[in-house]
Amino acid sequence: MKLKDKIAIVTGAASGIGKEIATTYAREGAKVVIADLALPAAEATAAELVKAGGQAMAVAMNVTDETEVNEGVAAVVKAWGGVDILVSNAGVQIVHPLEEFTLAEWKKMLAIHLDGAFLTTRACLPHMYASGRGGSIIYMGSVHSHEASLLKAPYVTAKHGLIGLSKTVAKEGAAHGVRSNVICPGFVRTPLVEKQIPEQAVALGISEADVVKKVMLKDTVDGEFTTVQDVAEVALLFASFPSNALTGQSLVVSHGWFMQ
Ligand code: NAD
Repeated sequence: MKLKDKIAIVTGAASGIGKEIATTYAREGAKVVIADLALPAAEATAAELVKAGGQAMAVAMNVTDETEVNEGVAAVVKAWGGVDILVSNAGVQIVHPLEEFTLAEWKKMLAIHLDGAFLTTRACLPHMYASGRGGSIIYMGSVHSHEASLLKAPYVTAKHGLIGLSKTVAKEGAAHGVRSNVICPGFVRTPLVEKQIPEQAVALGISEADVVKKVMLKDTVDGEFTTVQDVAEVALLFASFPSNALTGQSLVVSHGWFMQ
């Protein structure tokens, strides 16, 4: 077991990529916190993991809410004594041409992706520093941390921003053995992407099949979606890597859509 008794908070873990990361971490022996806006779904996920022999708890957490983040992390520390791994994964997508975005939509996107990453990091770091064990912070970026696409101005802006945050955390955390890295997946068929397919079809005036083939997977080497398991493998690597040798990096897992 690569994460035996490590305490891992995964935000947005009631669905999609976060859920698979939580499942993988639990299988590897971690005590996993399912932190999500959607509490009933988080509780159901935690119950599934416990039923499968893992250790898990659910926490209600809107990552844009300073108080909820601080209280959620405090509840984890009270229950389990610390935090070793943070996966800042919660995210949403809104697609429009830039001139159609309202300021409220722009702010919402930046709040979930960037304020959420900042607030959860700020809440967890002191516990990682105090434990003497160091820790691993993992941000869920995207190919859109490196590359732009039509219709996604705030998402691309926020995902690029995570790289800057992560590099800073890598420098500040190093003295305490805290590593920080970004995972950059290509398209993964989660609810977040299923919702976008019809929306992009309308915005671009093409069929849903063409959105998949000619937009989402166009630049991959093999026309394949990335899977939640692919992303969870990278999350396991970053969480279990034993030294500061692997920090301040972003790893693209996208069937070659973007090559660094
Ligand atoms: P998803 O919709 O399946 O899951 C997202 C989860 O985040 C949900 O459980 C939702 O309740 C939760 N969430 C949303 N807003 C929240 C908030 N304010 N506070 C706490 N939880 C909140 O989506 P997914 O595809 O699994 O996406 C997870 C992450 O992966 C996101 O950051 C997304 O940008 C990123 N990502 C996804 C893809 C993809 O193709 N699916 C590709 C690259 C990156």
